[in-house]
Amino acid sequence: MNESPRTVLVLGATGSIGRQTLDIIRRNPHRYRVVGLSAGTQVDALHQLATEFRVSPEATALGAEEAELLARDIEADVVVNGITGSAGLGATLATLAGGRTLALANKESLIVGAPLVRALAKPGQIIPVDSEHSAIAQCLTAGRKEEVARLVLTASGGPFRGKSRQELVSVTPEQALAHPTWNMGRVVTTNSATLVNKGLEVIEAHVLFDMPFDRIDVVVHPQSIIHSMVEYVDGATIAQVSIPDMRLPIALALNWPERVPGAVTPMDWTRAQEWTFEPLDNEAFPAVQLAKEVGAAGGAYPALFNAANEEAVDAFHAGKIPFLGILDTVRAVIDQWTATNAEVTRESLLEAETWARSAAHQRIPA
Ligand code: MG
Repeated sequence: MNESPRTVLVLGATGSIGRQTLDIIRRNPHRYRVVGLSAGTQVDALHQLATEFRVSPEATALGAEEAELLARDIEADVVVNGITGSAGLGATLATLAGGRTLALANKESLIVGAPLVRALAKPGQIIPVDSEHSAIAQCLTAGRKEEVARLVLTASGGPFRGKSRQELVSVTPEQALAHPTWNMGRVVTTNSATLVNKGLEVIEAHVLFDMPFDRIDVVVHPQSIIHSMVEYVDGATIAQVSIPDMRLPIALALNWPERVPGAVTPMDWTRAQEWTFEPLDNEAFPAVQLAKEVGAAGGAYPALFNAANEEAVDAFHAGKIPFLGILDTVRAVIDQWTATNAEVTRESLLEAETWARSAAHQRIPA
C-alpha cells in the first residue's frame, strides 16, 4: 500500500456511483483523499460533501461542462466519472488527455464516444466500474490475452425474464420499473427490462477489451451473483462471484490492481443456494443483437442507438408507445440514418444524437 493516500476526483458525486465512492473513501481515509467534486444539479448536497471532505470551492463543479474543466485542471491520481448520460463524455476525454487513471462508470463515454476515447486512452488507463466489466477485468488476470476465447456477460434478465414476445405486448411501465436485483434510475431500470442495458454493455466490453462482437456472449443469470466470465482457449471458464453490491467494483477501480479489504460482505457458503443460467431469447429481447449490429457498424451508430432509446423510453413511460415499441422505434431510427461514416468528432456525434432524438419523435404519437 502507498504511504500517501491516493487523490481522487469524484464527478457525479451526488449520484448513486458518486455516493458509494464517497462511502468507500469515508471508510478508508488513510487510502484516499478527495481533491475535487462535481454534481449535476444538487447544489446543496454538493456543498455538504465539499465541507465534509474539505474540498475548496474552486475544486467543486456544478454541471457537466464545469466537471470537464475540473477533470482537465485538478491534479488527481484517479478520476471517478459517475456522470449520467452522454454529458459525461467531455470529462472522460479531459481525464484521458491529462494522463490520469479513469475509473469509468459513465457508459455513454464508451457507447457514444468510442472513436474519440480510443484515440486518447493508453493501455490500462481506463478501469471499468460497471460490475460486468469489472468482473471481466478480474477474470482476465487468469490468463494471457491470446488465450482468451470469449467474454461472457451475465444478465439478470430483468422483470420480464422468461416472457415470450407475445406476452410482452401488453406489459406496463409500472411492471418495467420493478427490477429484481439492482435499484437504479428510470432509464437504466427500463433498459434492464428491455435488455438495452445489456446491449450497451456488450458495446462497452468490445471497446474496453478490444474483443470482436462474435466473441462476446450474453447469458441470463437471474441471481446476479456471477458478474461475468471469461472463457479461455482450453475450455476453462473463469467467473467473478460476489454479492450484488457496486461498492466492490468501485473500490477495485479506486485501488486497481490492488483490492480494498472489506469492500463488501463476502459470500456466505454455509447457506444453500442455487445459481441458474438461461440462454437469451433474442426474439423477445432484440436489444442485444441490435446493439452488436450498431457496435460493429461503428461511427455514430452506437450514439444513435443510445439517443433513440432514451426518447423511446420516455415515450413508453408517457403511455405513447407500448413496451415492444421501444426497440421498434430504435431500429426504425437506425434504419433511417443515411449519413456516411465520415470522420467522427464531438460535434458530429452531438449532431447525430440530436438527429436521432428528433427522428424518434417523428415516429412517436403525440
Ligand atoms: Mg452493469
